[in-house]
Amino acid sequence: MKKVYFFGEGKAEGAGLGKERLGGKGSGLAEMTALGIPVPPGFTIETSVCAGYARGGGLDGVRGEVAEALARVERATGKAFGDPANPLLVSVRSGARSSMPGMMDTILNLGLTSRTIAGLAALSGDRFAYDCRRRFLQMYGGVVLEVPKHDFEEVLSAARAERGVSSDAALSAEDLQRIAVRFEEIVRRHTGKDFPDDPQEQLWGAIGAVFRSWDNDRAKTYRKLHRIPGDWGTAVNVQAMVFGNRGETSATGVAFTRDPSTGEKKIYGEFLPNAQGEDVVAGIRTPRPLSAEGSGASLEETMPKAFAELLRLRDLLEKSFRDMQDLEFTIEDGKLYLLQTRNGKRTGFAAVKIATDMVEEGLISREEALARVEPEQLVQLLAPVFPQKEKEEAVASGKLLGKGLPAGPGAACGKIAFTAQRAVAMAARGEPVVLVREETSPEDIAGMHAAAGILTTRGGSTSHAAVIARGMGKTCVVGAGDITVESGGSGLRARNLRASEGDWISVDGTSGEVLLGKLPTRPSEVLQVLLEKSLPAEKSSVFSSFTLLLSWADAHRRLGVRANADTPTDARVAVLFGAEGIGLCRTEHMFFEETRIAAVREMILAESVEGRRAALAKILPMQRQDFVGLFREMGERPVTIRLLDPPLHEFLPHEEEAVRKTAAEMKVSEERLRERVRALHEANPMLGHRGCRLGITHPEIYETQVRAIFEAATAAIREGGKPRPEIMIPLVGTKGEFERLKALVDETAREVARETGQPVSYLVGTMIEIPRAALRAGRIAENCDFFSFGTNDLTQMTYGYSRDDAASFLPAYIEAGILPEDPFASLDLHGVGELVSIATRRGREVRPDLKVGVCGEHGGDPRSIEFFHQVGLDYVSCSPFRVPVARLAAARAALAERQVAVSSTA
Ligand code: PEP
Ligand code: MG
Repeated sequence: MKKVYFFGEGKAEGAGLGKERLGGKGSGLAEMTALGIPVPPGFTIETSVCAGYARGGGLDGVRGEVAEALARVERATGKAFGDPANPLLVSVRSGARSSMPGMMDTILNLGLTSRTIAGLAALSGDRFAYDCRRRFLQMYGGVVLEVPKHDFEEVLSAARAERGVSSDAALSAEDLQRIAVRFEEIVRRHTGKDFPDDPQEQLWGAIGAVFRSWDNDRAKTYRKLHRIPGDWGTAVNVQAMVFGNRGETSATGVAFTRDPSTGEKKIYGEFLPNAQGEDVVAGIRTPRPLSAEGSGASLEETMPKAFAELLRLRDLLEKSFRDMQDLEFTIEDGKLYLLQTRNGKRTGFAAVKIATDMVEEGLISREEALARVEPEQLVQLLAPVFPQKEKEEAVASGKLLGKGLPAGPGAACGKIAFTAQRAVAMAARGEPVVLVREETSPEDIAGMHAAAGILTTRGGSTSHAAVIARGMGKTCVVGAGDITVESGGSGLRARNLRASEGDWISVDGTSGEVLLGKLPTRPSEVLQVLLEKSLPAEKSSVFSSFTLLLSWADAHRRLGVRANADTPTDARVAVLFGAEGIGLCRTEHMFFEETRIAAVREMILAESVEGRRAALAKILPMQRQDFVGLFREMGERPVTIRLLDPPLHEFLPHEEEAVRKTAAEMKVSEERLRERVRALHEANPMLGHRGCRLGITHPEIYETQVRAIFEAATAAIREGGKPRPEIMIPLVGTKGEFERLKALVDETAREVARETGQPVSYLVGTMIEIPRAALRAGRIAENCDFFSFGTNDLTQMTYGYSRDDAASFLPAYIEAGILPEDPFASLDLHGVGELVSIATRRGREVRPDLKVGVCGEHGGDPRSIEFFHQVGLDYVSCSPFRVPVARLAAARAALAERQVAVSSTA
């Protein structure tokens, strides 16, 4: 079976085989070659070889094919591998199915030996040849021979210091030659052997190392964070070198076909003249912009022909790949080559804008646009920003630390952490953290993930930090050169300011400004249009792309989307975000309000039913007002109101001080209050006297609530409204519990109708949040109008631990692989999910018209939503701010079902 695919001279054996076999890079190189784009010739060893190699299979199976492909590269370039007169040099690079930027290894200039260096020098000059040689020794030494990388760096920086120059490009041929000799010594010292001088040995050493790098620690961490399966493996790409370090008419750079921060349709990126690829990301020299009118140093101004060619290729690539591309290019003596293309990582803002723009441009369909935006990315469009005025004031009062490149939009305030480990530790204590580094490297991934914001003092808009932050949707500023991180990470300095670990800073990922202290934040552009109405809709292109995309989502989704909302304000926000109803109103939140808690406590302390009723009579009008407000906001949309859920002791004080104060306020003896607290004490409160159990033992509480609902509905009808109350009984485990309380609801409804002469139509349903209820769903459904899965409790009771208690051991479980992830964040499909599926089926068998929804946190989680769609739920309900996420996720679930190709932007 063929496993090695040649590309070059307009032909690509692997064209059409796709990323699964060729990896992203290999597939991009094959497709570009087939399109006639100038790509240096080379070959790709497919991903399956990596898996075989990892199982100890060795590389013998591909030696013949590699030799053949290499011979074709030699023919295509007119050079020969190991030829002292005209040597072929190659790059050896990884390339997985899904891009993992910087996680795996790359080796450039391979094939340089003591024999071939003379040939290279004769053709292209000594300086160039030794520059390539030292680069090769350094990369091969570090990656394949595992020599500590800083040993090489030390020699280089000492040489720069000795010469008084800041850039490697300023070192002479003699300097570089000396450096190369030092590098060879370093290798000998570390490995006990000479640096391999046979090009074939070099090649196979590099191929093996790239395959092995699939399983290095940072690659594993990255895969875990991005849910990339460990058995995919990487491909290996061997490609003829073209040289960006061949003098001032040569360069290397990276480009995005559109702005990856905003999505604006303009070429974006940076380059370095007389440099090789790793120089751009290494951050030692400051890269220059591709196009920047008037800067004098941009690619457009200094190499206009190559720039024009880049624009031509951009259009060709976007037409062919139909997505924003992230390119690597090299210019060798004025000629532009592309070395890589892949779908570019982008912010949420850019994702939405690019998807909707590309539909308008006729490049993609609406369905594809929906598939291009990850639901979670919408959260960024709603993330807060710093108010201009406060920011200006902070700047005026000297708080500006500096300005870098905006690499991940949003406003982040947090305490400074100078290492990834500290960031992780501080975040684990619940502190917001800003990770501050000179530059990040793949080892920092976990810290970047834990941080609210990321700041680097070096590196450009395509540096590691920028690329990763965009992918994670993190607020990020890079290359803030005014700021210096003190050695040892004890503090940072900028002008006359200094800050230490733990001090607050504010990072504006939209403007690039970094300020000392904690700035207030204000709503994002979308919220300014939607909630504040402080910005006219037509003035915001972000808002118009956002609403357009969601309107397409609504046309495709089958799942309804409701919100969990307890107050009229929450309800208003929910409707503005597109909620079609309230899926859960937790009435206990109303009981906790300062003006009511006294009446609630009076009820709990009452000695008799009459006493309780008297206290409840005080609560009734307030509760009625709550519901009138909700019905007004929600109009004809359904409003699901859950009757009281928590155990009564939650409403009583527990601390000594609070007991004394409450007793005085309530004019009861402290002893009486303590006695009541003792009586209500439960060993396992979450498993105790709460929910419907309370409704059965204290029917007057539920009666009062139900009466308030019906009186409010009547009032709403009299105002001309059409309220649709859906009354929900919590924590039902048996049919008996449900039926008893349904009778209470029906009876109260009849009573209110008799009194007012105004019938109200309503539904009575139950939460399914106890495993027994899920299993007995067929019985419970007999007289039930709807089910709503309370997946918070259902998860807790299925696993046998609460979300809060799990915090002390769940991270260790996930680390050890006992659980793949937190079941409270994303539904456990094989446990809790199965209960959801069983209950839905059994309920509908008895009542085909049973309405089924979910109101636990999972209702706002995209992957859980996909499952709820598949199970056939009618709606999901989530917090108001997640409603847009849920709308998009529901549409994508429907599209995925219809087999519309979901091509992710990964
Ligand atoms: C649930 O259990 O999922 C639920 C929505 O109820 P609560 O979170 O209020 O217990
Ligand atoms: Mg619950």
